[in-house]
Amino acid sequence: MKRNTLNYALFGALFGLMFPVIATLFDILVQELPMTWDSIRMVQSNQPLHWIINTAPLFLGIFASFAGSRQDKVQDLNEAQEYIIDERTADLKITNEELKREIDQRKITEFELIAAKEEAIESQQAEERFLANMSHEIRTPLNSIVGFTRLLTDTPLTEQQSDYLKSLKYSSNHLLAIINDILELSKIKAGQIEFESLPIGSSDLFESVLNTVRISAENKNLDINLALSEATPAAFMGDVVRMSQVLLNLLNNAIKFTSAGSVTLSVVSSDKSNHTRFEIRDTGIGIPADKLQSIFDDFKQAESNTTRLYGGTGLGLAISKKLIEMMGGHIGVTSQLGVGSTFWFELELEPCEVPQAETNAFNQVVRMSSDLSLNILLAEDNDMNRLLAKNVFACWGDNFHIDCAINGKEALELFIENDYDVVLMDLQMPVMDGFTACEFIRTELDPPKRDVPIIALTADVLAAERKRAFQVGMNEYVTKPFKPEELFVKIIKCAEAVTK
Ligand code: ADP
Repeated sequence: MKRNTLNYALFGALFGLMFPVIATLFDILVQELPMTWDSIRMVQSNQPLHWIINTAPLFLGIFASFAGSRQDKVQDLNEAQEYIIDERTADLKITNEELKREIDQRKITEFELIAAKEEAIESQQAEERFLANMSHEIRTPLNSIVGFTRLLTDTPLTEQQSDYLKSLKYSSNHLLAIINDILELSKIKAGQIEFESLPIGSSDLFESVLNTVRISAENKNLDINLALSEATPAAFMGDVVRMSQVLLNLLNNAIKFTSAGSVTLSVVSSDKSNHTRFEIRDTGIGIPADKLQSIFDDFKQAESNTTRLYGGTGLGLAISKKLIEMMGGHIGVTSQLGVGSTFWFELELEPCEVPQAETNAFNQVVRMSSDLSLNILLAEDNDMNRLLAKNVFACWGDNFHIDCAINGKEALELFIENDYDVVLMDLQMPVMDGFTACEFIRTELDPPKRDVPIIALTADVLAAERKRAFQVGMNEYVTKPFKPEELFVKIIKCAEAVTK
């Protein structure tokens, strides 16, 4: 029995008891009877109304119990609601705490992400610093070695000296190639590579890469073949330097690892889509099945004695793989030991108009330049590089007069005092760098001095530096070690553009 039901029933019954008691006393008083048990008994037995009044405690008790039970129900309902509210409040508290924990966790994650981002930026900056140092500090002296070796080859030499020089030339070129490979890979990893998208003539590209490797193939008596499918576009959009780099790497490897037979470059394009598959097939030593994947990793070669037997660094395929993937393609290999290997890569090539054929740029420029006499200013802080450039110019004859400055400030003084047709400007120099000197010429001087072509000359490889050079107004960019022909072509083209 609920508490209120019982209480109300008792109170009702007690209250009901008052009716028979009061009615009996009232009757005794009215009938003027003595206040005794006998009078009570008599009143009770003589008055049938008293029997009805005597039931009052029972009925009032029952009615009151109804009210009590309603009260109990309301109380139960309230308690149930309170319980639900308490439960919900507890749930909310837990959810609140969980939310708080989650917010704290997020804050920690955010903090960790910011720290990781800062670390990544720092390591990228360190990588860029490494690249800049590597390219400048190591390549600058090496460029001099390569350049002077080249110049020395054209001087009178004894047979022994000539032999020594050949070894020197081979080793310095080899060292430069290794450093360039390491730099190239670091550049790719640091996201410092930008791809051009210009029309490439298919036959120009394939013939030029095959011509480049033909001599080494002929030296080994290897047949070198080209097979183009009919659907191969005559020209497509792409980066000719990167395409050639990958093709040359795969072709050079094919020749290097083949002692007899042939090397075939085949290009098969789908006639329904832009999909093209390039294959470089050789009949060489082949690659063990368990090494087919790892040879695409940095510094990985199929056999431990490969470097000793064939040379190389194990970086060429890693670079090619990254370049192909950055062009949106895939690269792979199938091979059978002792039978040969087929390296393949697949790209989506967007066909385009065949570009105007450029006849050999160097010959064309030599013809253009025969009656050109040029005053050139070279700003270069490195003694060796100045000497090297002077010697290169001397080889081109008397048409070229060259003045040298050892920093940007000296270059500006010479430039203001004299008339020059072209300026060759190193970018990193003490006192005043090439950027500042160029900016001064372009913004502070009046024409015609302001418009004199300036060619940036640098051993650095960062794309950002190249961009900055163009931003401050340089017209061309030559990377050291410069190929004399390339520098020559750029000087003449710049000078011609001004005289036109
Ligand atoms: P490198 O040729 O400088 O060693 P690569 O990255 O170009 O570096 O090649 C990695 C390795 O893959 C080579 O050392 C060689 O073991 C193997 N390899 C590449 N091309 C061929 C090929 N055509 N035939 C046999 N082995 C090859």
